Amino acid sequence: MAHPRRARPIIFMPAKPLTAATDELVALWRSDPFASNPELLAELLDCPEAGLQDCLRQQQCATVVDLHFGAGLAFLLTWQCFARWREQGGAERLHYVAIVPHPCDPAQLAALHAQWPQLEHTARQLQAAWPLPLPGTHRVMLADGAVTLTLVLGEMDEELARLDAPTDLFYLHADPTRFDPLASGWNPYQCKRLARQAWTGAHALVYQGDQATAQAMRQNGFEAHRLPQAMALHYAPAWVRPAAHVATSNTPLLRQPPHARHALVIGAGLAGCAAAERLTARGWRIDLIDACDGPAQRASGNHGGLFMPALARDESPLARLSRAAYLYALNHWQWLGGIGLDRTEADGVAGEQCGVLQLGRDAKQATSFELAAAQWNYPPHYARWLGQDQAAALLGMPVATGGYLFERAGWLNPPSLCRRLLFVAHAQARLHQHFGRTVASLVRNGQQWQAVASEGDVIAAAPVVILAAGAQAKALLPAAGLPLQA
Ligand SMILES: Cc1cc2nc3c(=O)[nH]c(=O)nc-3n(C[C@H](O)[C@H](O)[C@H](O)COP(=O)(O)OP(=O)(O)OC[C@H]3O[C@@H](n4cnc5c(N)ncnc54)[C@H](O)[C@@H]3O)c2cc1C
Repeated sequence: MAHPRRARPIIFMPAKPLTAATDELVALWRSDPFASNPELLAELLDCPEAGLQDCLRQQQCATVVDLHFGAGLAFLLTWQCFARWREQGGAERLHYVAIVPHPCDPAQLAALHAQWPQLEHTARQLQAAWPLPLPGTHRVMLADGAVTLTLVLGEMDEELARLDAPTDLFYLHADPTRFDPLASGWNPYQCKRLARQAWTGAHALVYQGDQATAQAMRQNGFEAHRLPQAMALHYAPAWVRPAAHVATSNTPLLRQPPHARHALVIGAGLAGCAAAERLTARGWRIDLIDACDGPAQRASGNHGGLFMPALARDESPLARLSRAAYLYALNHWQWLGGIGLDRTEADGVAGEQCGVLQLGRDAKQATSFELAAAQWNYPPHYARWLGQDQAAALLGMPVATGGYLFERAGWLNPPSLCRRLLFVAHAQARLHQHFGRTVASLVRNGQQWQAVASEGDVIAAAPVVILAAGAQAKALLPAAGLPLQA
């Protein structure tokens, strides 16, 4: 008897539009010395006990998590400090993560930054990169990729529970309501979430640290140390298991000895070329292998592909990923030289950022689109709802329904994007290409993955392998049970 298929539960995660910073909240930031006084905060960050120097000296990539971003004063000062240490042989990269429940708008940001003329140069870069007010993750690359700013716009509790960013240093405020009127404060439950993100040996700096916060942090493995106007904490849990190598929610994170930054990338379509470009930019050596005699010859070989948001009425992980990826791609393609009809691999990507109008397939879908537009209140540069008449006027022809106008969307030539990515990756002189080579199997040999051809010879070997071979990835690692569908 055939088993009836079990229906998968459908979990609807309702979309929650952002609530922007009010003038009252911005006034609170202006009055808070840690959000507004560069001299005071710089002095605090310069204290060895604060932990910033420690992580910039010891880590190749230092990760700082800031839960009270405001207008980014701590970010700008940390960036300044990072630039100094980098020149002296300290950390090569800074990853700064901030959860922002109530983002300010560009005008508020510029007005707040105007108070800090000494930080004008970097503040202007932050203003230029400031994301659209859309919930979720926005990744901003600064200082030619040396500084990554991950801004997570959304509710503090929800986003902190989702965060996966092993951290060297936290910035906290003992009174979080100054940044989010709904914040619940640093109780033991919230502090446990921080401990789960912390590398063993991580630091936390609590502005205006009070006894209650120190107590809650201590319960979760942090040791407290009093500084003028702040509290410095050090994550040294008594329950470290030295042999632990996989972080579970209750096992403190222990750093592993670094392995060589060398990876195999199998597949030279959009996925593989993008992985190769990003990793070479971060100092990785890459062996890129493809069965075809050049990049982008399978699914990525189409002459034209549309890029546009895929709007969803819920806030599922897929909806968040798709939105974040679209916004990231637009910024990154700009950084690659932009999109234009005359672009070549030496200067950009062939295509047109001409805008896309997505009409409803029928009246039912158009109504559903319109409801979503009202619910989300999207920023107009991202998605603007046009009624039937407006859509017809834009196109200069009659249309059956209204639709979404995506101003920044368009089309591009995927092979041209792949060639541009490899051109940029080549400039790093860490890319080795193996075209016309089919990987028949992947073999784990000691600390290395070997890509083996059907004749039995090893095409290349490295400690890390990235499968960018589309649905064929399943055949390369059948035992892994990869959740791929073709
Ligand atoms: C007709 C069509 C229209 C599309 N339109 C759009 C669109 O408008 N907008 C959009 O965003 N997306 C569109 N897509 C989807 C998009 O093209 C794909 O999602 C994307 O190209 C996938 O890229 P990839 O790198 O994952 O796969 P691929 O481009 O297929 O790259 C995989 C590579 O792996 C190599 N490979 C596989 N197995 C091995 C092996 N064992 N050894 C060595 N090499 C191997 C292959 O040779 C191939 O080059 C479209 C797709 C199709 C087919």
